[in-house]
Amino acid sequence: MKDETKCLHSGYTPKNGEPRVVPICQSTTYTFDSTEHIGQLFDMPTAHMYSRFSNPTVEAVEKKIADLEGGVGAMCTSSGQAASLLSILNICSSGDSFISTATIYGGTVNLFAVTLKRFGIECIFVDPDAPAEEVQKKFKPNTKAIFGETLANPALAVLDIQKWVAIAHKNKVPLIIDNTFATPFLCKPIAFGADIVIHSTTKYMDGHALQVGGVIVDSGNFDWSNGNYPEFTTPDESYHGVVYTRDFGKAAYIVKNRMQLMRDFGCYPAAHSAFLLNLGLETLPIRMERYCQNAKIVAEHFQQSDKIAKVVYPGLKGDKYYDLAQTYLPKGTSGVVSITIKGGRENAVKFMDGLKLASNEVHVADIRTCVLHPASATHRQLTDEQLVAAGINPGLIRFSVGLENIEDILADIDQSLAQI
Ligand code: PLP
Repeated sequence: MKDETKCLHSGYTPKNGEPRVVPICQSTTYTFDSTEHIGQLFDMPTAHMYSRFSNPTVEAVEKKIADLEGGVGAMCTSSGQAASLLSILNICSSGDSFISTATIYGGTVNLFAVTLKRFGIECIFVDPDAPAEEVQKKFKPNTKAIFGETLANPALAVLDIQKWVAIAHKNKVPLIIDNTFATPFLCKPIAFGADIVIHSTTKYMDGHALQVGGVIVDSGNFDWSNGNYPEFTTPDESYHGVVYTRDFGKAAYIVKNRMQLMRDFGCYPAAHSAFLLNLGLETLPIRMERYCQNAKIVAEHFQQSDKIAKVVYPGLKGDKYYDLAQTYLPKGTSGVVSITIKGGRENAVKFMDGLKLASNEVHVADIRTCVLHPASATHRQLTDEQLVAAGINPGLIRFSVGLENIEDILADIDQSLAQI
């Protein structure tokens, strides 16, 4: 099946007389005929037993996303933050380190640089465009993974995934990609060699600003028995001595994440949230096409204004990342455009407050056009140095183009620019 078809049909196939739409299975628990059956499930989780770590509605969405990304399995989480957290904790313990590109979402920088540090896990930040030899120098004997965003929020740097795959695999560690802005419709990191893909499903996948959620997808391709990851190849005493690589083969990473971390942290989404996410996924391809189309027109429009100092949109010829975008995002580079207004922070705020159609809100990748000033919101906690490393200057505005008629979006921009 192609993506458009997968979005509608993967993950749930009703049998004769069953509901056409994925049903909301609103139950915390599941009943069995015998104690022995429940006991067996604790050895081998072949059925749902408790909705803190699996549920039929959520499972349908997990299967759909795994299919779209080309993975062997997926696990939904209650937020994108939870997905980032568990993707790392499944590999790194206290005393370990991992490498991350510096141009990632501000909340993830906070999680990696501050909170994981308190867990004894060190994140080593590097420039995503650094040559391989420079990245190599950052590796330590305890480095367990590399993390990066396909299309960075909000710098819109396009990651050279194949370069990072080569570096990761040379060092026998997995590459984890946050594919939130691209979605599997615009880019499939696993097809380029990435090992793990995560998303904030709160963004384009949902698209309607209805649920906060995340997902982790396992490619099934990484060799966890390469000597670097003993917790995959030795008995897990907290789970009846299971050996993940031996007992779950290619699905070792995602099963370990669910049965160990989701069991203990419990950040699983509600069935109703998964139902809403599924509605968004059903129209993802058609929405992504229109987001990309509208955003390119908006980016070109901004380029023509003498009030704008800089427009960043990798789909524009001449953009620093245009060539990489042609390789990794040939169908388009999402609906997000980053602009820098002349006159710095003051004019940025004036422009945003002058918009009538576009909402000023803490969100991005919505069906409705919305704007945000990262330096005073999502990236507020970053130091000026970290802001520069993340590709953000104080006048930068993240303009998330929605699905309104393009003429209305342009008219709104023009009336607000005219006030500056
Ligand atoms: N990853 C990216 C690229 C994001 O933009 C965000 C949120 O903006 C997150 C992760 C965190 O996701 P959530 O807000 O769903 O926790």
